[in-house]
Amino acid sequence: MAGRTDSFDLGTLALASGEGRRLTLAVAPGSFDFGGTNYDVEPEQVDAILDISRMTHGGYALRLRFTAGLTGPCMRCLEPARPTIAVDAREVDQPGGGEELRSPYVDDGELDVAAWARDAYALALPTQVVCREDCAGLCPECGVSLNEDPGHAHEREPDPRWAKLRELRFE
Ligand SMILES: [Zn+2]
Ligand SMILES: [Zn+2]
Repeated sequence: MAGRTDSFDLGTLALASGEGRRLTLAVAPGSFDFGGTNYDVEPEQVDAILDISRMTHGGYALRLRFTAGLTGPCMRCLEPARPTIAVDAREVDQPGGGEELRSPYVDDGELDVAAWARDAYALALPTQVVCREDCAGLCPECGVSLNEDPGHAHEREPDPRWAKLRELRFE
């Protein structure tokens, strides 16, 4: 795999109006912190497909695609989780096209691949990182994994036999 590409000068492609190019480059979205717990992207560096089109009125239409796993504890049961996150992000940068046609990741033809890859990955993350979609989580009363013990339940009332025993003991 080639070295990581943090930024890329779109001008070096010398694309004519309406012309496009597809590149494969390495990105590293980094690690993320959720409530003080660290989640790492794995592998740290992945290949991304970058599509670059030179628009007829100048500027560029860009598309970045890659897939990378995220590792960390399941937010429901605390067992290791490794969801695969698929990123498919688009940007348009057209100087003179108005505020909404400027990409925050393009500055004077220089594409900030590192910042875009990280932000796009963060946006693609699920609201909750889980080991599997139907993870049952932990028992809120005793912390037992409900994945391993699906029939697990607590008696709502203390067992009357124990209450009797306590009475006997403390009399
Ligand atoms: Zn889980
Ligand atoms: Zn329990």
